[in-house]
Amino acid sequence: MNRQEFLKVTLAGAATVMAGGATSLLTSCGAAPKAATKNDTPLRLSFQSGTGIGESYAEKFDYMESLGIEGFEPGGNELVRNYDEIAKALEGRNIKLSAICAGFEGFILAEEQAAKDAFDTSMRTIVDAAGSLGSTGVIMVPAFNHQVPCRPHTQETRDFLCAELKALGDYALSKGTTVILEPLNRGEAFYLRLVSDAAAICRDVANDGVMCMGDFWHMKEDTGDYAAFMSAGKYLRHVHVASRGGRSMPGEDGELDNYKEGFRALKELGYPYYVSFECGCRSDRSVAVPAAVELLRRQWEEA
Ligand code: MG
Repeated sequence: MNRQEFLKVTLAGAATVMAGGATSLLTSCGAAPKAATKNDTPLRLSFQSGTGIGESYAEKFDYMESLGIEGFEPGGNELVRNYDEIAKALEGRNIKLSAICAGFEGFILAEEQAAKDAFDTSMRTIVDAAGSLGSTGVIMVPAFNHQVPCRPHTQETRDFLCAELKALGDYALSKGTTVILEPLNRGEAFYLRLVSDAAAICRDVANDGVMCMGDFWHMKEDTGDYAAFMSAGKYLRHVHVASRGGRSMPGEDGELDNYKEGFRALKELGYPYYVSFECGCRSDRSVAVPAAVELLRRQWEEA
């Protein structure tokens, strides 16, 4: 074994221990440990409410199951409004709630107390519902560009955000879920644009109830897909995917729709959560959706 091969094996081993955690340790106590490779990590896909086909939740979930989709990401409003219906429709399915897509009122960095209060109240209502149905977390954006007046982009605001997130994280944990920071692009939310910045906030908050995510559409802000996900590491709780030219169904932008570098990072991390569709569709949904699922599965294999 030359030095390069040795390094490869050693690094792969270290990544496996990091990613496998307790499971790897347990395995290694029994029979000869299986040599895990990065390719053992499964791709777990999730749909939002309008991604697939079907009117009722039963129809939507039947369609999702026919494609092997394991996660469902409703909006926060939708979850609260249709809680009983969603809970019943999920019974006996191979589908679980993945993350919950925002839906709260107001925003956490609001200068006006009424907008901050609206955020605190509505976010906790969504967290309650998310936790009781076992969601991986509720997605939140600290401030969209259009939300004003907003606290200024200063150290004091960041400290405020961390303190507020700590309290929110404690609340989410008490309900069995988390809150997930989503970085967007500068056109939508200048305050938080990089996956690595969201992860650094999670690190500083140091609360298991506060996690972050990456959205392939917004990740054009990051210097690269691989680096973005690797920088999030253990804080990464959710991923959004869309076509990379016009935020449509993956595959509808042809050659642009390459997710392999990002997928390679997710596989090396042993990422156990969901990759969830958040996108439109420009062509026949009954053709584009199965094609997108197949495209993502093929690129995951190749990553
Ligand atoms: Mg998104």
